[in-house]
Amino acid sequence: METVSPITEIIDEIKKSGGEAFKYCYQCGKCDTVCPWNLVTDFSIRKIVRQATLGLPEIEIEDLWRCTTCGLCPSQCPRGVEQIEVGVAIRRIASNYGVFPGSVRAIRTVRGSLTTDGNPLGEDRNKRDAWTKDLSIKPFAEGMEILYFVGCYYSYDPRMRKAAAATVGILKKAGVKFGILGNKESCCGESIRKTGNEDVFKALAKDNIKTFIDNGVKRILVSSPHCYHTFKNEYSEFMVHFDVVHISQFLLELIEQGRIELTGEVKKKITYHDPCYLGRHNGIFDQPRDVLKNIPGLELVEMRNNRQNSLCCGGGGGRIWMDTPKGQRFADLRLAQAKEAGAEMLVTACPYCISNFEESRLALGDEETLEIKDITEIVWASLKESEETP
Ligand code: SF4
Ligand code: SF4
Repeated sequence: METVSPITEIIDEIKKSGGEAFKYCYQCGKCDTVCPWNLVTDFSIRKIVRQATLGLPEIEIEDLWRCTTCGLCPSQCPRGVEQIEVGVAIRRIASNYGVFPGSVRAIRTVRGSLTTDGNPLGEDRNKRDAWTKDLSIKPFAEGMEILYFVGCYYSYDPRMRKAAAATVGILKKAGVKFGILGNKESCCGESIRKTGNEDVFKALAKDNIKTFIDNGVKRILVSSPHCYHTFKNEYSEFMVHFDVVHISQFLLELIEQGRIELTGEVKKKITYHDPCYLGRHNGIFDQPRDVLKNIPGLELVEMRNNRQNSLCCGGGGGRIWMDTPKGQRFADLRLAQAKEAGAEMLVTACPYCISNFEESRLALGDEETLEIKDITEIVWASLKESEETP
């Protein structure tokens, strides 16, 4: 093993990032037992924590970039070690030195795109609102009930744009006074931060915070659990507080207030996948399920790993931008669990989960047997069905 950085630098970096509890690790290995990587290959976060304790991390290895920040091992650790913070702190040092092994090099391109155009997808900032062309959506103005913060994947990705359109359909049907920021919106910065690019995160966060304040934003509706997590738990580091609501929570609010009524039948056996940043990281397990239970005809079944023990899709921690070889994709395993539960449809509420599941569905030839939907698409289907059935 090569010593690549002075011991104090590593220890200080970890302390600065709040991951100081690494010193309590007693190497029990429970983290490795629960980590989804060990379902597909060998990986030891315990070893990374151990190296950090000694101030001797190997910053050039691919393994440093495996953690999807799924949150499972911190929730199981008997000593309260914050494995994610330890890993991100070491990534920060690797990023500062410009050390990116093979599969991680895409991060450099992503970083460039975020800096110039405010999105990780290499798309033009001025086309961020192109998806709204035929939808007549108002720009956000002070006094509106809520800002719909669309997010990068829902703005640019053709698959996710369908979910954004479904969201808009539901909001209009419910009579919600909402607007969007259009091209003034920037990436929330959650995932780039987890790759150790603190400066890019801070620049994106400051851009968004300034835009929110300049436009008098009080309540923010988001589609992505990653935007939700960052606005709610990380933007507070900048001494600001916004009322943030994820679409799965807002849908339940609309149902409970009688603003939408789901009377259209969806006769399907459905399973719900808990995205890590909605479920484990933020405790939102019930609301999405309660929304689905309001749809007539729908039968909700659970997969083997659900709620606190949900199986990560593989897209968090910046992994959505890295190549994962066939045979190591968690999404393949998740699809197998959905089929094992007898589901015809896998519903979730996160752009990374949907992208990974759609990719696995294609690769595994499951197009005929399993549908993948965002929660808004299934609610919108029920609402449209209600309209058509007199
Ligand atoms: S579960 Fe916690 S205490 Fe046990 S090896 Fe992992 S980090 Fe260390
Ligand atoms: S947070 Fe998840 S992916 Fe990362 S090491 Fe822990 S269990 Fe593995």
